[in-house]
Amino acid sequence: MKYVTEFRDKEVAEGVILEINKVVAEIKKNPRIKLPIRLMEICGGQTHSILQYGIHSALPKEVEFVHGPGCPVCVTPIETINLALELAKQPNVIFTSFGDMLRVPGSDENMFEAKAKGADIRWVYAPSEAVEIAKQNPDKEVVFFAIGFETTTWPITEALCIAERDSVKNFSILPTMVRVPPALEVILSDPECIIDGILAAGHVCTIMGTEEYEPLVEKYNVPIVVTGFQPIDILTGVLLALLQIEEGRSDVENAYGWVANSAGSTVAKSLINKFFKIVDRKWRGIGLIPNSGFGLRDEYLKYDAEIKWKNIHARKEPEPNKYCGLVLTGKIKPTECPFYKKECSQEHPIGALMVSSEGACAAYFLYNKDTGESK
Ligand code: SF4
Repeated sequence: MKYVTEFRDKEVAEGVILEINKVVAEIKKNPRIKLPIRLMEICGGQTHSILQYGIHSALPKEVEFVHGPGCPVCVTPIETINLALELAKQPNVIFTSFGDMLRVPGSDENMFEAKAKGADIRWVYAPSEAVEIAKQNPDKEVVFFAIGFETTTWPITEALCIAERDSVKNFSILPTMVRVPPALEVILSDPECIIDGILAAGHVCTIMGTEEYEPLVEKYNVPIVVTGFQPIDILTGVLLALLQIEEGRSDVENAYGWVANSAGSTVAKSLINKFFKIVDRKWRGIGLIPNSGFGLRDEYLKYDAEIKWKNIHARKEPEPNKYCGLVLTGKIKPTECPFYKKECSQEHPIGALMVSSEGACAAYFLYNKDTGESK
């Protein structure tokens, strides 16, 4: 097991940057390769590391990061936020959520504001905490706002296991979990796609395995390097992606091998498969993506808050602007949104990307205050 400081070592980082510069020098001699090289990091955690540690500034100007859709708070559409708020305001309901979600604006208010008006909304760090709250409050209905990618879907199964084992009948989830590969397919199949390589999220692959990305590499001929979140992880991912581009290869490579492997976690995957089936899911700024979400299997619908409160419907409204979707799909940088740092700030967010701890706009706002630029 490695310690985190080893992945932030300045000398090691400088060595990898030197190698990156050598590969870029070779790439520049090759007229077949168009510059700049654009690498999309999928996960918002990677985006924050890139901005926080200035990795974008340390790379040669021929290499550019494009920020991907890997922030579960950011991709949850406004109608789902509205539905969550409606559920939270039902009498006798304790609504639980990860903290990031509480500041995301719905059409009229966010959850902090609803809480201030009397809704019983509680911040939890793990889904299993919501089950404990349900056990302690048997006369209440406890709902957990189940957002997340594959990585978080697995601890949600832990909460369901506890609820099933202990016959907790007053616990349910609002399932909004999403899957990375179908969203990547949407981005890669776009005729205007400008991405030359992908840094996939290591923690997702720890659960699902790297093999999920093989069909995408074959179909779209784009290198995918599974990458971690610390500076050395990300720089290594960049180096491996650039080497593939220089050599004209497109493979799935694993730069996070100390945690992720090809098959993923069989235990986690079997629990996900026990409780959930693959369903279509709507993404903020992208729309409905086939097979891009997890929904409860028929035998577990008793834990589905949408079934328990089937008369409550999401207030359907168009997204407040197109720019959040353009940032989520890597088509623009946060600084290219006309609302960035004007109408949209951390104090007064318009979109989830500005308040989520993994949001790209939040990363720019927090770490790039002075220049407002990505380079
Ligand atoms: S600055 Fe605000 S409105 Fe613009 S893309 Fe970011 S979150 Fe959305």
